Amino acid sequence: MRIIVLPGDGIGPEVTAATSSVLRAASERFQLNVQLEEHAVGHASLQQFGTTVRPGLLEIAKSADGLILGPTATFDFKDEQRGEINPSKYFRKNLDLFANLRPARTYSGQHNRFGALDLVVVRENTEGFYADRNMEQGNSELLVTPDVAVSLRRITRTCCERIAQTACKLAMSRRKHLTIVHKANVLRIGDGMFLDICRETARAYPDLAVDDVLVDAMMAHVVRQPERFDVIVTTNMFGDILSDLTAELSGSLGLGGSLNVGANYAMAQAAHGSAPDIAGRDVANPFSLVLSAALLLAWHGERRGDARYQSAARAIENAVAVAMQTGRATRDVGGGLGTAAAGQAIVELLQSDIAAASAAAL
Ligand code: NAD
Repeated sequence: MRIIVLPGDGIGPEVTAATSSVLRAASERFQLNVQLEEHAVGHASLQQFGTTVRPGLLEIAKSADGLILGPTATFDFKDEQRGEINPSKYFRKNLDLFANLRPARTYSGQHNRFGALDLVVVRENTEGFYADRNMEQGNSELLVTPDVAVSLRRITRTCCERIAQTACKLAMSRRKHLTIVHKANVLRIGDGMFLDICRETARAYPDLAVDDVLVDAMMAHVVRQPERFDVIVTTNMFGDILSDLTAELSGSLGLGGSLNVGANYAMAQAAHGSAPDIAGRDVANPFSLVLSAALLLAWHGERRGDARYQSAARAIENAVAVAMQTGRATRDVGGGLGTAAAGQAIVELLQSDIAAASAAAL
């Protein structure tokens, strides 16, 4: 399995280095022959090549079996004419990575203020309110006069159908409960279409329990009773916001795994940003990107019909669970380790029998 690793900005290089060491350990333990190939994106690429994503990187990405994109300083990248491309948008759009899967779970033994949860936010990833990617050409934010701005949202039947299918299938492999999150009381046309299509799609899955919640009320429900939810499907911007909340409810934004999936490609990404406030201090939690990399291995294993990759993914997830339960983690989740040491803890757990044995038992 050849994986392109793009470290990104801020804490990106730190969490990516930890993730790469975990992947090497998993590769060795499960004989996966994973090859990691690192390329620059973001500020490092801007300095070196005059653009945050250099020409040719897309073809390299397409030729590989998967991508790992560290967080990038997207807020800094404002002008594409000056080479300031948002790498996250660039790969999601150009590889048509239409589904963003963002699991969140709590760990036993870990103090959590809001109760146990184990859920996945399934977020549409290619349209919605994302003005920089929902048009064939140009940008859907307009300055009508110096004092009047208009931001347009795009919702299409095709994108609703494919995200609804992804969510239904995932829910069927879990606790068979799908919650549709929307704002169809106000956005009657766009979210009305999204809601109708999700309900229509779910009808093909008679064993699936389906409900829906307005996005504003969802913020209260998921804090009050997070255990009530299993798979949550929603539009792009709502999913982005909601999944930061569910990651934090699970213990930290630094625990939020995230996989972007399309028909042919997948890209692991942390749910969080480049966190400039803690960059370069060896304090960032690497588990978000580590868990995302595990999702990438599982995706690859399923596509190839090769269970070794799925075993490796489960072993990584189990190693993170053991590390969380035993305090071998960063301080945002109550541990005392730095970024590199937390990554090393996962490496050692993978080398021991604990993670592998519990992976086999699952
Ligand atoms: P952020 O997600 O980077 O940070 C929010 C808060 O969470 C900060 O206090 C940060 O220290 C903390 N945090 C984030 N990741 C953590 C981790 N792994 N361990 C411990 N704490 C962690 O959001 P921001 O500060 O608003 O954004 C910073 C930059 O990241 C901006 O340029 C933004 O546009 C960009 N961004 C990028 C992505 C991406 O690459 N996918 C996503 C979101 C934001």
